[in-house]
Amino acid sequence: MIDHNASCPYCGKTLDADATFCSRCGKNIFSAGSSPSTTYQHNQAAGTPPHVENYLVWAILATIFCCLPFGVVAIVYAAQVNSALAAGNYELAVRNAENARKWCWVAFWTGLAGALFYALLFFAGSCASALY
Ligand SMILES: [Zn+2]
Repeated sequence: MIDHNASCPYCGKTLDADATFCSRCGKNIFSAGSSPSTTYQHNQAAGTPPHVENYLVWAILATIFCCLPFGVVAIVYAAQVNSALAAGNYELAVRNAENARKWCWVAFWTGLAGALFYALLFFAGSCASALY
């Protein structure tokens, strides 16, 4: 990055090749060259692929115990998390995981509301039969 005849990115003074700090303004010239985005890309290329929670277990549980149609939607999104990760599309995997989580909750609350509704019907039915 810093070759011979390198210049300070802050004040433009010509510096030695092995200079770490600018002799005129005193700034660290190495910190200017490495931006956060380049180190991020470096980590992604070198490191292991990031783990994304795929909510598949929750989606299946929601399908069985709560609400089948919404649970199936959650399962579909959960399955797409792994395929997106396998394709190396981290952002798509995260987006699918968020959708899977969202539909798990939709299925959960729908199932809960349905259970409450039937409990209410049962309660109302037993009250009505007690009256007659
Ligand atoms: Zn300088």
